[in-house]
Amino acid sequence: MLKIVTAPNPVLATVCDPCTPGDESLKGLAHQMADAMYANNGCGIAAPQVGVLKRLVVVDVDWDDDHRDPIYMVNPEIVELKGEPESAGEGCLSCPGVTVSISRKPWAHVRYYDLDGKLWEIQGDGLLGRCMQHEIDHLNGKTLFESCDPITRISALRAYDEAKKSGARPGDTDFEVR
Ligand SMILES: [Zn+2]
Repeated sequence: MLKIVTAPNPVLATVCDPCTPGDESLKGLAHQMADAMYANNGCGIAAPQVGVLKRLVVVDVDWDDDHRDPIYMVNPEIVELKGEPESAGEGCLSCPGVTVSISRKPWAHVRYYDLDGKLWEIQGDGLLGRCMQHEIDHLNGKTLFESCDPITRISALRAYDEAKKSGARPGDTDFEVR
């Protein structure tokens, strides 16, 4: 099982390199990322979260033990964001123990390649729209702490320190920061 990189770590603050669409070696990595995501109760994961600086993410916002339908996104790119920004709590496998309120436009239109190198477009709001934006933030070196507003950031980092001291593991989201 791939180990999740947790903040702070320079890997999480680095802009990732584009992949070559259709590169066969991405398949194994993508499937291992999905395994790590499910094992840690996540709904999305980006390659830097397993220490790989490539533009590859996996998203599955609606899964349970009987139903898994991961979307593998190679070089995902935001085409357009729409709607009045909404705040909602987000967790992150790389920031175990905290939920941080982040304001985002609710509707996202994203273009990406699948693992076979075919180009797709997807549009989503709700959890899907939010999750895609969160994962693409990772590819640009941003975690929850860079995506929230500066005031929230102070309390979020404080809560994260507490969470780490109390032994929070990836997948824990107990310390909510508003
Ligand atoms: Zn994350």
